[in-house]
Amino acid sequence: MIRAVGPDPTFGKSVQAEISARITEQQFLTWFQRVQFRVSSTDVVTVSVPNRFFMTFLKHRYQALICDAVSAVSSIRQPRVEFEIVEDEAVGRLPHAAAPPPVIAPAAINNSHGAGQAPEFPENIPLNPDYTFDEFVVGPSNRLAHAAALSVSETPGTSYNPLFLFGSVGLGKTHLMQAVARRYGAAGMGQMVYISCASFTNDFIAAVSNNDLDRFRRKYREANALLIDDIHFLANKERTQEEFFHTFNSIYNRQKQILLTSDSLPSEIAGLGDRLVSRFKLGLVVELAPPCFETRVAILLRKARNVDLEIPLDVAEYVAHRICDNVRELEGAVNRLHSHVHIEHRALTIEEARKSIADLVGDEEHRVDLLRIQQAILEQFSIRPSDLHSKCRSRSVVVPRQICMYLSRLHTDLSLGEIGLYFGGRDHSTVLHSIEKIRKLLETDSALRSTVAALERKLGHRR
Ligand code: ADP
Ligand code: MG
Repeated sequence: MIRAVGPDPTFGKSVQAEISARITEQQFLTWFQRVQFRVSSTDVVTVSVPNRFFMTFLKHRYQALICDAVSAVSSIRQPRVEFEIVEDEAVGRLPHAAAPPPVIAPAAINNSHGAGQAPEFPENIPLNPDYTFDEFVVGPSNRLAHAAALSVSETPGTSYNPLFLFGSVGLGKTHLMQAVARRYGAAGMGQMVYISCASFTNDFIAAVSNNDLDRFRRKYREANALLIDDIHFLANKERTQEEFFHTFNSIYNRQKQILLTSDSLPSEIAGLGDRLVSRFKLGLVVELAPPCFETRVAILLRKARNVDLEIPLDVAEYVAHRICDNVRELEGAVNRLHSHVHIEHRALTIEEARKSIADLVGDEEHRVDLLRIQQAILEQFSIRPSDLHSKCRSRSVVVPRQICMYLSRLHTDLSLGEIGLYFGGRDHSTVLHSIEKIRKLLETDSALRSTVAALERKLGHRR
């Protein structure tokens, strides 16, 4: 058993938390979940890994990140990193690529502050080293979005302003936004804001309650570029919308670049005021659609090459046929195949690949879909998970709950009973009643129709 030693036993945990805030959940689960860190002398941090391959990979790809994380959570300014290979049960079976992560709230990503600091306005989201233009595989589904982002990165404020990228989860919106942010950083853009809409919202609420609006406004309204990820988070938040409206105008009028991403069209964001909808459409609105088969194959081959994995073309084609609408899931498959070859030392045939990714495309589907449906509903209606599962009869939660059941029935193979069980132990007749209710309403209620259409778009199901 390995234990963290050194002055601070929580050191290892803090380093992990810091790292997880700077990379995707998938990368974290694959490479860091069960790696251990400890301080072994004044400025030396020892990283315990399960095998040589891990060591090489972490050294090659993540050494700088590890150093940054260590200095962010400790007083070690320039850590020296040493690796040790530990044949241990607890860390021996790695990497286990995880199931595709559920949608994570942007707020969870942006927690780069060291513990114990005074509350501050959030820093820009740390950039993922992989999210560059070079690493972005271009195909018909994303060509326009890629070209527009590239153009905005080269001539900020003059080509398309604002640039509004939308599409369902896992299709590269954050990737493109970070590619732009990276270029701006490299070009010495000066004060630039790149944060999630959730952080903007939290930041605003904190500023109001601390009487600190002047500083808030200086930070946002005077920026030389404003990049806000997942702007659909403004849904139904009137005061934040009001503030954002003025932020937008200030940046726009100074001809500075605004870049926004969203999971739906401006007009489909629930409760978004008309004046914001029309401002969001002032420049260019571009969709990122799910990649076509050839692009999926190209993405698989590129991601595999990045981790020194050779996937035979027939295997890549097999995987691309099974995973269709989310690039993050393609990455999950590459991680699976990678551990299959490099950790389990097995050949990569179609049959082996089938077994290796079975749970990514098979049984997991229902659970993930229910979670995604639930997440989409929570965001759309600004309600809490407990509201969906409770017995509360207030209209503001009954309708979202009924829509949830309706979408679950439509987009999973779960039975009425199973859906009822999930949503607060209701019996199948209650579920049936809810679904019928929504079906009927959809025939007459155009607002409900557009809400459901937006939800379906979020879920990647098109009509
Ligand atoms: P979104 O913000 O749209 O939910 P992300 O930008 O987080 O999606 O993308 C999910 C993952 O898929 C990221 O790891 C990203 O690098 C990868 N990805 C998405 N599209 C592409 C692409 N066209 N080429 C390479 N990687 C991609
Ligand atoms: Mg994103």
